Amino acid sequence: MSTILNSNVVNNNFNGKEIKRMHIMAKPIGAVCNIDCNYCYYLSKQGLLDYKKGCSPEIEDETLEHYIRNYITSQNAPQIIFSWQGGEPTLLGVDFFERVVALQDKYCPNNVEILNDLQTNGTLIDDKWCQFLKRNNFLVGLSIDGPQMLHDSYRTNKSGRGTFNKVMKTVDLFHKHQIQFTTLTCVNNLTSRNPLEVYRFLRDEVRSPMMQFIPIVEKRDFREFAPDSTNNNLLIPKQGDKSLIPGNSRSIVEPWCVSDVAWGNFLIAIFDEWYQKDIGRVHIQYFEAILQAWSGRQNPMCTLGPVCGKGMAMEPNGDVYTCDHFVYPEYKTGSILEDDLETLAYSSKQAMFGLDKINQLPKKCQQCDYQFACFGECPKNRFIKTENGEAGLNYLCAGWHKFFSHADKDFSQILRTLKQPVANGKYTHV
Ligand code: SF4
Ligand code: SF4
Repeated sequence: MSTILNSNVVNNNFNGKEIKRMHIMAKPIGAVCNIDCNYCYYLSKQGLLDYKKGCSPEIEDETLEHYIRNYITSQNAPQIIFSWQGGEPTLLGVDFFERVVALQDKYCPNNVEILNDLQTNGTLIDDKWCQFLKRNNFLVGLSIDGPQMLHDSYRTNKSGRGTFNKVMKTVDLFHKHQIQFTTLTCVNNLTSRNPLEVYRFLRDEVRSPMMQFIPIVEKRDFREFAPDSTNNNLLIPKQGDKSLIPGNSRSIVEPWCVSDVAWGNFLIAIFDEWYQKDIGRVHIQYFEAILQAWSGRQNPMCTLGPVCGKGMAMEPNGDVYTCDHFVYPEYKTGSILEDDLETLAYSSKQAMFGLDKINQLPKKCQQCDYQFACFGECPKNRFIKTENGEAGLNYLCAGWHKFFSHADKDFSQILRTLKQPVANGKYTHV
């Protein structure tokens, strides 16, 4: 996302008032999607949120206008970022997004820039879409899991056929139309075993301008129950237990998940190749964000920062939830049809949700050498116990720790090469 220098920003002020920002991931078509990826965490929301059978969950015109107006007026900042997700938002067609842009223009204050990002599975994109995306400067996140064999293992259409060829046509279109895009790659039980195949494919064939990797972690009961890091039930496995291995008959996670160790190994393999050959010319979101933690700044990614709650999620009926990964009834904070967005964003429920991330860190994390870079990672994944039996440890802990230890010296070296101070890690005084 580009940044702008705005002469109206003075310290923490904009237009003479304190800067106020928020971020919402809007789902104008909810969990509805044209394809059927096995590991999608959102498709099951159709049942959980009780979408009415036979009814399209598409956001109504009135709700859309209300949302856009309210989202703009609730913020005081030189830039306002709208994020559109699904399900598959491109199912709504270019015309829907033309309306979005027209409404944004209608309510945008003079000296404010509005930016849009859109996440897509890339199967419905054509020239018309690209012309729209280019004209309106959308940043697009494209889901692609690697070479055909790996991508098509899970990213299939409703008849079970792989979507790889369609997505690669979209990649060509994006390059042809010079669309700003990033790639989003799910690290599951298969992709995690083939890190270099995935990385080299994204680098050399997709020519991804920015690679984002998402570890796929879902407890078997995720369709019905929200993650609960405070659950201290005797049956919850400890780190290292066999029941945490995806595919094990007693496993508590879905078989397509990445294991903790495989996650660490995946990051290490890619990091080593990137560090040796590609640094400066290939962009990997995790590595660039983690480098900030080594330099003493805050990691810009919520998953690795100290608090949550900066990004809410909105369903097409206007219901707002604390986070995209906590769209469960008990995490609903309100509705844009009844509540002001500013009130929801700054509510005590939202604040508590955010602070729980640091307040509920188990002792193991508090004493960890890499707490500064990890902060116990995403609370969605904190469902195992430490070896000592303390609840709330992150399922991916072993992998994260292995990666941080492995890359520690190299992150410090990168900062020294950039003539920046090394504030954290074991090599601050070398
Ligand atoms: S729950 Fe996870 S995804 Fe949501 S804000 Fe917190 S760290 Fe980010
Ligand atoms: S690496 Fe493990 S122990 Fe360290 S902060 Fe992350 S989750 Fe906690």
